[in-house]
Amino acid sequence: MLSQEQILEKLKTSGALLQGHFKLPSGRHSLQLVECARILQYPWHAEELCGELASRFKDKQVGLVMGAAVGGIVVAFEIARQLNIPAVFTERVNGVMSLRRGFSIRSGQRILIAEDEVITGRSIREIIRLVEERGGIIVGITALLNRSKGEEGGMNYPFEALAELETKTYEPEECPLCKKNIPISRMGRRPI
Ligand SMILES: [Zn+2]
Repeated sequence: MLSQEQILEKLKTSGALLQGHFKLPSGRHSLQLVECARILQYPWHAEELCGELASRFKDKQVGLVMGAAVGGIVVAFEIARQLNIPAVFTERVNGVMSLRRGFSIRSGQRILIAEDEVITGRSIREIIRLVEERGGIIVGITALLNRSKGEEGGMNYPFEALAELETKTYEPEECPLCKKNIPISRMGRRPI
């Protein structure tokens, strides 16, 4: 089983966890940037990380894995591949989390919800509502990274993440790196 330190080390070496001086879309500054897609682009890493999560649910008679587009698609798919069951993903349509593309769930179907990272838990809560409305049974919720700082409340189901990661953010005038006149890193969410 991979330790928390091993997971974070893999995220760093694959470029998914970056150290620097970053300006977030919110305008706040951060000393770390996380982009799970950067490690999930390597199928062998996705296989290993999602395999850890799949193993935790292999005895739970899961019938379907469900993630939210875009971040949850690869994680849900790879967990489902290893459990030998289907995976579907949800999308927001006019702001409402929905099942499109002919995807459906059956009443009584046992469902595992999977995400790359959980920060506010908003997407997860929306998927929970969607599944509950259709009579699905939520077996658990899983993610590579829990960045919610304990604010994942409201899920009310077993939650398993591979690693916990707290990312501090600062208003620019309080940012320790700005105080040292360290320039903003060129690597942001949008590659340039
Ligand atoms: Zn700064």
